[in-house]
Amino acid sequence: MKPRVRIKDKEFELFLSWDKDVTPQIERIAEEINHDYLGKEPTLLTVMNGAMSFCDSLLYKLIIPVKLDAIRLRSYDGTKSTGTVTVEAPPKNSLKGQDVIIVEDIVDTGFTIDYAKKYVKKLGAASVRVATLISKEEAREVSDLKLDYVGLVIPDRFIVGHCFDYDEDGRNLYDIYALAEGSR
Ligand code: 5GP
Repeated sequence: MKPRVRIKDKEFELFLSWDKDVTPQIERIAEEINHDYLGKEPTLLTVMNGAMSFCDSLLYKLIIPVKLDAIRLRSYDGTKSTGTVTVEAPPKNSLKGQDVIIVEDIVDTGFTIDYAKKYVKKLGAASVRVATLISKEEAREVSDLKLDYVGLVIPDRFIVGHCFDYDEDGRNLYDIYALAEGSR
């Protein structure tokens, strides 16, 4: 049986090893960004708090110069996406004329990242791309959503650990756990 953890009312089972499954994919994304943005200085716009750890891991593997900024969005309630996205905290610096890479932890229905892309374009960015650590393609509700850099594609399961939370708990687990079968 896979190792399990209990968070609040739910059981989660080990799903991805951070070192073995996730880190090599972050290294691959960094290589792609280093190649695609050679001679440029993009802004990594981290979607807080979830993508904090992905951005941190990615940052030190980039050899091109980058600027950093962050945005705080809200779209999830418990283990379900609400479909309504709001900006809780906008970027600190002007994104006008900047090449922006939105750094996201996970794309599920796609509503959040679709909203974020449109929002960043409206702020006058010269270009907007998306780097997401995880994509749940089966759960996608926004059609024609382009994700430029994707770490791992996973089935439609709710995950916690390594910065992914369940109602603000579980972020400090080193590996990634998925909601166990039968735990709803
Ligand atoms: P979307 O708008 O694509 O449905 O949802 C994106 C946001 O929902 C992500 O930024 C993330 O905060 C949250 N989210 C989606 N799936 C999961 C998941 O499996 N676990 C956690 N902890 N958050 C998720």
